[in-house]
Amino acid sequence: MARVDLREALRVTPGRRVRVKQLDPTDTHGYTKKASADATERELERLTDLQDRLWAEAHHAVLVVLQGIDAAGKDGTIRRVMTAFNPQGCAVTPFKVPTPEELAHDYLWRVHKRVPGKGEIGIFNRSHYEDVLVVRVHGLVPEDVWSARYEQINDFERTLAATGTTIVKFFLSISRDEQRVRFQSRYDDPAKRWKFSMGDLEERKRWDDYQAAFDDMLSKTSTAAAPWYVIPADHNWFRNLAVATILADTIADLKPAYPPEPDLPKDLVVK
Ligand code: AMP
Ligand code: MG
Repeated sequence: MARVDLREALRVTPGRRVRVKQLDPTDTHGYTKKASADATERELERLTDLQDRLWAEAHHAVLVVLQGIDAAGKDGTIRRVMTAFNPQGCAVTPFKVPTPEELAHDYLWRVHKRVPGKGEIGIFNRSHYEDVLVVRVHGLVPEDVWSARYEQINDFERTLAATGTTIVKFFLSISRDEQRVRFQSRYDDPAKRWKFSMGDLEERKRWDDYQAAFDDMLSKTSTAAAPWYVIPADHNWFRNLAVATILADTIADLKPAYPPEPDLPKDLVVK
């Protein structure tokens, strides 16, 4: 089977109007679960090698943004895909309800503090996009405030990109029914119940409002400097393969290389 270019297939073309509803969250782009296992392993090995070079070179920063509705698989993606990385040089930041100190500042303040430095990979589990998602859906600020944020975010990301940060944004897309199944299994499984709250069911009632907010986010903030990828995420195995592949292809484009060998004597024997 010819390998589908997942980066091409799943990227949101800048300026294109996206409707998440029209994209199939069960799509696997011709991959079978069986075939994906080896392919995913290969991509994870590539990621390990690429990160080693990225860290050694200490030239490029890579920012990975993960968004998706509750139970879309953000945590699972981090657990499965980001294990390819040496924890030295990789930091995960979860963005929760802002603290009073964070709320006293502009919404990008807490975000900018956590962007990766040169050689590092920074993973955002949720992000500044919550400020046009949950904040919009719940009307936490007036419409004129949140609606101005799309351009502010584009400007922010453009600045990061222009100053050495490669940005890759994944929107994990699950169906409403898959969310129901995952919530039920969180509730039923004693090892997962801690993740479940009655608040999740309140959010679920706003499914359509979230979909509208996702549509606008994806349509307005997928740029050449910081593209969005919509990952069909009902199948965890496909989600992992797609995220690993797109991430590896993105980092490979940076051609991270070990620094030139230092000038050392020939045939040195360390005693
Ligand atoms: P979780 O990802 O399940 O740990 O939940 C984190 C919670 O923090 C989610 O319900 C988010 O909607 C919420 N959250 C994250 N960022 C913001 C924000 N800027 N304003 C309000 N709530 C937020
Ligand atoms: Mg949650």
